[in-house]
Amino acid sequence: MQGLIIENISNLYQVKTEEGLYETTARGKFKKDEITPVVGDKVEITVTDEIQKKAVIEEIYERQVYIKRPKLANITQIVFVVSSKDPKPDLYMLDKQLAFAEYIGVNAIIVLNKTDLDQKEEFKNIKQVYSKIGYTVILTDAKQRKGIEELKQALKNNVNAFSGNSGVGKSTLINGIFNKDITQEGEISKKNKRGKNTTTAIKLYEIDDNTYIADTPGFSTFDISEIESKDLYQYFKEFNTYAENCEFIGCTHIKEENCGIKQAMQEGKIDTARYERFGKIYNELKEKEERKW
Ligand code: GDP
Ligand code: ZN
Repeated sequence: MQGLIIENISNLYQVKTEEGLYETTARGKFKKDEITPVVGDKVEITVTDEIQKKAVIEEIYERQVYIKRPKLANITQIVFVVSSKDPKPDLYMLDKQLAFAEYIGVNAIIVLNKTDLDQKEEFKNIKQVYSKIGYTVILTDAKQRKGIEELKQALKNNVNAFSGNSGVGKSTLINGIFNKDITQEGEISKKNKRGKNTTTAIKLYEIDDNTYIADTPGFSTFDISEIESKDLYQYFKEFNTYAENCEFIGCTHIKEENCGIKQAMQEGKIDTARYERFGKIYNELKEKEERKW
């Protein structure tokens, strides 16, 4: 039988199937091959006890997407949350996270939260810049549940992972979507398992049959250090088309003369501040690469 892993605590996996939910363990052979099932995996299971709803995972289907931290497979969309205040907008982080989404090949949307707390002009500008690039930008006030319906629509038919600095309102948004304290529940179940030394539970919450939100306790943003500095521009969506105008093959788009991307920026086709953040992120990746050797 085929199923989807929706929760993992220690070595137990909850698998959703057409016949309902099964509590499963992984076959030993996975460990030998150094593959461990993760939440989001589509798996083949064999039922070992129909009454107790127990089963064994026989096979993991090929992953479309795999993220190491938090361990998640087959997400299709990253929802990046920025807040107006406490913490204030961090566009450097936003651009990193958008690049990460492009890098792993999933859709990204942007949520501007805490619209009740100032920064109206700044949010207007952010919305304009990123809409122009082609990203969906949704304004929310998670506390008053404003914008939640629009967000829900944007999540539809996706396996969604939320990302964003601590305190921006990810948990509040997720709770708002489900209209109850989901992330709180997670905390409670963790406490009950105290003493067993379980790792934090990653879980997919179902909105409808085709729509999920991954809850990843303690997680804030994706680490992008596996992106190579020379490839970074490809993950700045609007940069790509201008790279063909670069004079030099292997142009880094930083210091070179006659760079198509810099030219596009000078002509106002690429947002200057975004180009500057690109340069900073590029340097950060480059420094990391040099430290490796
Ligand atoms: P997370 O760390 O991203 O999960 O952020 P939380 O959901 O825990 O929210 C951090 C704090 O911001 C909490 O005190 C929330 O009540 C508050 N918060 C979340 N959304 C909003 C909002 O839209 N407006 C205001 N004023 N506060 C919010
Ligand atoms: Zn260039």
